[in-house]
Order: sequence, then C-alpha cells, then structure tokens
Amino acid sequence: MITHDKRLFVRNITRGIMTTFEAFTQKQAYIDGTWHSAENGKPWQLYHPATGEVLLNTELATSAEAEKAIEAAARAFTSWRQTSRETRAQYLEKIADAFEAKSEYLAMLSVKNNGKLRLEADIDVADAIACYRYYADLIRQQPTQQTLPAPEGMTLIKESEPIGVCALIVPWNFPMVTTAWKLAPALAAGCTVILKPSEYTLLPELVLGDILTEVNLPKGVVNIVAGDADVGQLMSTHPLINKVSFTGSNAVGESVMRQAASGVKSISLELGGKSAFIVCEDVDLDAACEWIAAGIFFNAGQICSATSRLLIPESIAQPLLERLKLKAENLIVGAGEDDNSTMGAITNEAQYRRIQQYFSIAKEENLPLITGGHTIGEHGWFIAPTIYAPVPTSSQLWQEEIFGPVLVCATYRDISEAIKLANESIYGLVATVASASVENAMRIAKALRVGHIWINSE
Ligand code: NAD
Repeated sequence: MITHDKRLFVRNITRGIMTTFEAFTQKQAYIDGTWHSAENGKPWQLYHPATGEVLLNTELATSAEAEKAIEAAARAFTSWRQTSRETRAQYLEKIADAFEAKSEYLAMLSVKNNGKLRLEADIDVADAIACYRYYADLIRQQPTQQTLPAPEGMTLIKESEPIGVCALIVPWNFPMVTTAWKLAPALAAGCTVILKPSEYTLLPELVLGDILTEVNLPKGVVNIVAGDADVGQLMSTHPLINKVSFTGSNAVGESVMRQAASGVKSISLELGGKSAFIVCEDVDLDAACEWIAAGIFFNAGQICSATSRLLIPESIAQPLLERLKLKAENLIVGAGEDDNSTMGAITNEAQYRRIQQYFSIAKEENLPLITGGHTIGEHGWFIAPTIYAPVPTSSQLWQEEIFGPVLVCATYRDISEAIKLANESIYGLVATVASASVENAMRIAKALRVGHIWINSE
C-alpha cells in the first residue's frame, strides 16, 4: 500500500525537478533538425501518474507541423538513401552511445512521466540502446546484393531498397524501446522518418530530438511531431508517406489500416493481446506462481504481452490460487521513485478509469474476486493487483484486453480443453506454458495459435 510518507516523498521530488521540465514546452516538433513550437497548438498537460499532479503545461503539435515534418522527411530521402551502410551503422551507434550517456536522465523522466518502477524504466532505456546497436551490426553483416540462380546467359541480382518515407506511431507503455524497434531498422535501411510519440509520455521521447542533433544526423532524416490522433491520422493518409508502422490498440490499428489504404501504403501493425498462461498439473507451484505474477503485474499489467488469462488444471486450482493471492497482496504498489515499490502506477487517467470500468463489469457479472478489484490511495493512479477466479469464457473480462494488473482465471479438465480455451481469442500475440516436462510444454506450444511462446518463464 502507498503510505502518506511515500506520497510526500514523491511530491517533494516532483517539485524539485519541475523547473527542468520547462525546457520541453518549446519542443513540439523537431523538423529539419530544429525544434519548433506549435503554431496553433492544442493545450495539453503531462502528468506524474504517482501523484496525479501536472508535470508540465504544454501544447500539442497539429497537422500544420506534421505536414512540414513529412515534407522535410521526403526532401531528405534522396540523399539519405545514398549513404553507405557503414555511415548509417555509425549513426546508429552514436545514437546508442548518446542514449547510454543520458540513461540516468531518461530513466528518471520515464519514472516521472510513465509512473514506472525504476527497474522498468531502466529496461525501456537499455532495450532501446540494444536495439540501435543490433541494427548497426545487422546492416554491416548483411550483403548489399545477392545473386540469385538464373537461366544461362542471364544474371539475376536482388538488391534491398529503402521503401521511402516512413510514418512511425508509438504507444505509451514502453515508449523508448518501441520507438527504437521502428526507428533503428528504418534508418538502417536508408528510410527517412516522421515519428509520433504517444501524447501521454512525451518527456522521455522528446530527448531523442536533442540526441539526433548531438550526433549530427543529417537534417530531415528524422522528424518528430508531438501530436495526438489527428497527427497520426494525417501521417497514415499523407501521399508522401510510403510506409506506416503502428504499435497500439486493435481499435486504432483497424483505423490505421483503413487510413493507410489511401495510396496503398505498406503497413506494419503491432497490436494488443489477451494472452493465455497454461499451467500443467506437474508444475512446481512456487515457480509457476512467480511466472504468473510477473506475467501480469510487471509494469502494472500495461504490456501487450501480459499473460492475463490463466488456465489451471482443476486438481491444483486451490493451492495455486492461494499462492497467487498471497503474492498479489504482498506487492508494494507505489511510486517508482520509492525503491520499496514492486508495482507502479497506471500511466494515464483514461486508462485508470478504463480499468475501473472493468471492475464494475465484474460486479455486474458477479465474478468471484480473489483479491484486489479497487484503486489504492487518494492521489495518483494506482490499482490493486487483481485476480478473479473462476471466470466464464463468455465474460468481457475474459475476452477483452484490459491493459492493467487484472488476471482472470479458469480451470480445465484435460490439456486439450486448455489448448481450446487458449486459442479461443481474437488476439494471438503470445502465450506461456509451464510444465515440469519441457517436451510436454513444447507439444502444447505447437498447438497454440500465437506469435510468441514462453516456456517456464514469465
Ligand atoms: P492507442 O492505439 O490508443 O494509441 C497508439 C498511438 O496511436 C498513439 O500515439 C496515438 O496518439 C495514436 N493514434 C490514436 N488514434 C490514431 C489514429 N486514428 N490514427 C493514427 N494514430 C492514432 O494505444 P495506447 O493506448 O497508446 O497503447 C496501448 C495499446 O498498445 C494496447 O492495446 C497494447 O496492447 C498495445 N501495444 C502493443 C504492442 C505490441 O508490440 N504488439 C506493444 C505495446 C503496446
């Protein structure tokens, strides 16, 4: 539980660094290597989720800035595509080095603006750095050309070409690494970019513009527009955009797909999940409990790959749920600045309210509550780690992505039933299987229709 003392601690820290954030008010659009403030910006606040206090009163950029940013990226494409792979690899390494040098600062911004634990913020920064380095290595290793088998008298050469100007649209849960997953391969390939970070978590994302200036990335190669859905919409419909890479919810993903149909743009969509965790009867209960808890309570459940549907054999349901209840109740929900906290805040108020709507639905549906089901404290956006069991598969809580620390559980009689229940979902992102026998887990994994499977892990 968050204590009164901890809340005071958070407030003091917030006040102490408030002035530092003022520099961000001038940073709404990074175009052609220079920061611009929005001409007719929309008033906007960035918050500290652990206190609910405003971190920064600012404005969001609009379509006017997005239009200029897209034009800058289109102009820069002609020369950037002709740079050597070695040159591009060196820029990626310099970006990684600059992130490393600022890692303390970036993690602090992420704790403040995302409400993350320090460990989670560190992971966001470290994974982003690793991603920039990975693509620097990859383009050095990949051959520039490939000669393919061809009929006699003919030479067939395959050459990979950059697709052009890319629109990158990012969510708020792990912003730095999600941006890196898009930006690093785009730059490596020789594409130019307009990036739209989530309007909720601008602080850690806007430092990227300063980093690009610091490493002397040619002007216009990366442009950043701190806008909302309107800017995202323009980016995914604009005729100068060749590719849209979007990560976010399924609902917005569908819109982006429709929007990108104009001009038949190439798209990549990384969307939501309602992933199953299948526990087998032979499992070590204590180990399983750790994996299940980490799978749903890490980052307060705000992770696309959260394993939020638990499938338990009837025979071990009671002892496993008892352990899980204890584990959930022992988590210390609090501010990321407090080293004692083991689960952080919900990143924005809209999401905090959305999770509470699911609590109301659970009440209407009379779902048995094992633990949680409520908010914590009077300040900030904290949700108690929550477990419902047993939950019918017809329940909205079983079917829909909640994106919070809410686990729904069902029991199964035999493993074929577990596989059937796991596969009965509109999502197909990830799954976890826990079993004393890796061979057994592998057999189950092969029957699951998801993109990524963990075995005996969180
Ligand atoms: P969201 O879909 O609400 O927003 C994502 C981004 O799209 C934001 O930058 C937003 O401003 C922008 N946007 C909103 N409307 C738009 C429109 N019409 N056109 C273009 N852009 C638009 O998602 P969120 O709330 O920021 O993030 C949470 C969601 O992201 C969850 O569903 C989660 O599962 C998903 N997610 C998926 C992955 C993955 O790799 N699969 C990773 C992280 C998050």
